[in-house]
Amino acid sequence: MSYESWGRTVHAERAAIPFSDLDAGAFSRHETWLAFGNGRSYGDSCHNDRGMLIDCRNANRILGFDEATGALTCEPGLLLDDILAFAIPRGYFLPVTPGTRYVSVAGAIANDVHGKNHHRRSTFGMHVVQFKLLRSDGQSLICAPDDNADYFAATLGGMGLTGLITEATIRLMRVGSPDIRQRSFRFDRLEDYFAHFKAFDEAHEYAVAWIDQMARGRHFGRGVLMGGDHADAAQAKAKQPGAPRISVPFTPPVNLINSASLRVFNELYYRKHKAGEHTQTVPWSGYFYPLDAIGNWNRLYGPRGLYQHQSVYPEEQGHDTTVRLMECAQQHGHASFLTVLKRFGPARSPGLLSFPKPGFTLTLDFSNQGPRTLKLLDALDDIVMNVGGAVNPYKDGRMGPETFAASFPNWRALEARRDPAMMSDFWRRTAMVL
Ligand SMILES: Cc1cc2nc3c(=O)[nH]c(=O)nc-3n(C[C@H](O)[C@H](O)[C@H](O)COP(=O)(O)OP(=O)(O)OC[C@H]3O[C@@H](n4cnc5c(N)ncnc54)[C@H](O)[C@@H]3O)c2cc1C
Repeated sequence: MSYESWGRTVHAERAAIPFSDLDAGAFSRHETWLAFGNGRSYGDSCHNDRGMLIDCRNANRILGFDEATGALTCEPGLLLDDILAFAIPRGYFLPVTPGTRYVSVAGAIANDVHGKNHHRRSTFGMHVVQFKLLRSDGQSLICAPDDNADYFAATLGGMGLTGLITEATIRLMRVGSPDIRQRSFRFDRLEDYFAHFKAFDEAHEYAVAWIDQMARGRHFGRGVLMGGDHADAAQAKAKQPGAPRISVPFTPPVNLINSASLRVFNELYYRKHKAGEHTQTVPWSGYFYPLDAIGNWNRLYGPRGLYQHQSVYPEEQGHDTTVRLMECAQQHGHASFLTVLKRFGPARSPGLLSFPKPGFTLTLDFSNQGPRTLKLLDALDDIVMNVGGAVNPYKDGRMGPETFAASFPNWRALEARRDPAMMSDFWRRTAMVL
């Protein structure tokens, strides 16, 4: 079993035991532990290289489903992909989903993940009815918004540090069809995104923009804004997708995602969308999970892997900060493969370290080119810190303790609820040195 995270910037031997082998005395046998979901975090928040991992992938059963309310109870390692396969034929869908369906339920809770409908439904954690949290002293706590609420809040976005989630109940969302009536708007410059995002947010369940980070001059910030709503049953067209048909079988010796290949990709993607506005029904798998169509696409970045930088910053400074971040990447000579811009809505999750706050969020992916990439990432952090924003910890593999503390001034509240046996490389690098 691989214990890499998605960015693959650190290669190390990792020790793990399967969830099913964890007995009552296990926690005393190693100094530190951390649950491992499905390794879709980009950096080191799912690693504990000096201790032991608990591999939750074999704990993936559905334990119950209430057809009337949509409440689904499951083991922690159940993938969102499996939930969709179960829920769609019953007329349900995930209320919040990240951009990959290969994420475990416990991983989605521990990072309190968000999706394209944050402006309507906030984070994954807002749809959690309850979970069981096993602490290393043997206590099993039932946590819900009104039961052990302090542990509930600390565990949502708590990056596995409060204990082991052993079971969870989430509430699914009823939909007419999983497919999407997609309204796309191709825009020629960033200003056009800022002129239209509000109307898209108000009109649609989902809204997100792809940006061509390489475009310059009068096309700086061009892209495609995609709104969407679940189609009704008559409009549905999709089949259930299977496993990815194409997969990158091995890691090439060099990074294949470079400026030249990106320029071509961006041009093709931009031109694929006709100028102006268009509405059509599209299959849900392509709308929510375009990257899942290619298995192991992260290997294309070669042996050194990739870094993702996701930040959130206040709405009032949205336009100028987005410009500064994109210009900064260009000035450092770095091209971002996937650049996504979205507005987070006002509803805040109770999660103590939940990443989303009201404002704009920009996501940039960079191939790891060593010190020059790290220098760029630090410069991006500075821009975000200057406007009182935050950098996403579960996409990160290198932010300094100061950036972390400025992003999450309340981090000590999580440290107070941390299970003394739980530790991650991320927490060691950021919180423990402060
Ligand atoms: C292509 C792609 C697109 C993505 N898009 C988005 C997006 O749109 N929005 C977004 O928010 N995120 C996004 N992500 C990030 C991803 O959704 C999160 O990192 C997710 O939490 C990963 O879950 P996982 O199951 O892989 O868990 P891991 O990455 O293995 O672990 C995540 C955290 O969960 C903890 N954990 C796992 N199991 C348990 C357990 N049983 N008990 C307690 N803690 C546990 C781990 O300790 C770790 O801290 C994306 C990632 C990829 C690769």
